[in-house]
Amino acid sequence: MSSYGISMSAYGSPIEGYPLGGEIVVDLRSDTISKPTPEMKNFMFNCEVGDDVYLEDPTCKELQEKAAKLAGKEAAIFVPSGTMGNLIAIMAHCDRRDSEIIVGDCSHIMLWEQGGASQIGRVLMRGVRNNKDGTFDLDDMEAKFSTAENIHCASTSLVCVENTHNYCGGTVVPMHWLRELKARCQQHNIPIHMDGARVFNAAIYLGLPLAELLGSVDTVMFCLSKGLGAPVGSILAGPEEFIQKAIRIRKVLGGGMRQVGYLAGAGLYALDNHVDRLRQDHDQTRIIAQAINKMKCPFIEIDLSNVQTNILVVNFRGNITAEMFRQRLLTITDEELTVLGRNNVCYVRVSSLTEHTIRIVLYLNVTVEGIKLATQKIAFVVKEFGCKMNKRMKVN
Ligand SMILES: *Cc1c(COP(=O)(O)O)cnc(C)c1O
Repeated sequence: MSSYGISMSAYGSPIEGYPLGGEIVVDLRSDTISKPTPEMKNFMFNCEVGDDVYLEDPTCKELQEKAAKLAGKEAAIFVPSGTMGNLIAIMAHCDRRDSEIIVGDCSHIMLWEQGGASQIGRVLMRGVRNNKDGTFDLDDMEAKFSTAENIHCASTSLVCVENTHNYCGGTVVPMHWLRELKARCQQHNIPIHMDGARVFNAAIYLGLPLAELLGSVDTVMFCLSKGLGAPVGSILAGPEEFIQKAIRIRKVLGGGMRQVGYLAGAGLYALDNHVDRLRQDHDQTRIIAQAINKMKCPFIEIDLSNVQTNILVVNFRGNITAEMFRQRLLTITDEELTVLGRNNVCYVRVSSLTEHTIRIVLYLNVTVEGIKLATQKIAFVVKEFGCKMNKRMKVN
């Protein structure tokens, strides 16, 4: 069984309810499903370890130092997940009881972290409406700021920004906007945390060193376990004093890990070997987007200006729902076999984001062959849906 983004289904279907006969499955649901390469596994296996709660794991220390340097911050810690990294950051910034944070209303922190900032961190989250590029209106943001002097309100202790923006389709927030954000926040003495789960994708897109991109924010979390291909782990970076607080909070949340160097080693390997190649994921994402767009199907919409990194959001109009399209990609029809030929058919896994949108994500294990087959399949299905709709319209 090959497991490099494309997998053979000879040992039974990886997709429940879809009996397969050896066809290829191209899995484009998320970059979180990326797996370590043989070279990464070999590197991990040979790492030196120690007890990291005693601060004695040499590989983890090396990773943290390297990550801090890359991010242009004083210090960094390795954390089990991005969700924990964001929560630790919020708790470390909001150490007074009456704190609130300002956060985009489509952000991961607001939507997909179970409200951890409130649930565990007892912090009020105030949403500000996200624009389609992942930014938000800075006047709106500033209007929400309040200080402890106002006895009626929580005091604004942090602003969070996401880059690249997941829900907005992997968009990169512009540097001029980040600088303006910093200027506004500085006037009020409010720090900025970046949820940079995919911030390396942003740096590659902008052609900037990471440290320069992060010059406008105080702290950052980034994931090693997504496009960078490590099996587990994220980094939280910021000022020394902040990281000291973060180490304590990580422990109470259960994130103090022992011989974690084997995992940290994967992160080290990823930072040395898998950053520049993110460019390929971006190029391939665009190729798929353009292939779909070229078909000019009136029921499918892709905003090409928003296809910037490794995430592609496809919108459906009319009677076609995201779920219908997703399910169809998990089926091979007789017609498809006849038209494309046995060696050119495949199953494609994507995620439905909302009722009318699907999400396609590229990452290092998807092969050139996998992309070719998946693009062909998607084009075939787009055409099929388009034709069906046209027929129905003629009848009506
Ligand atoms: C994936 C993701 C996270 C959380 O990372 P996990 O390691 O899955 O907990 C946070 N923010 C964004 C934008 C993400 O895409």
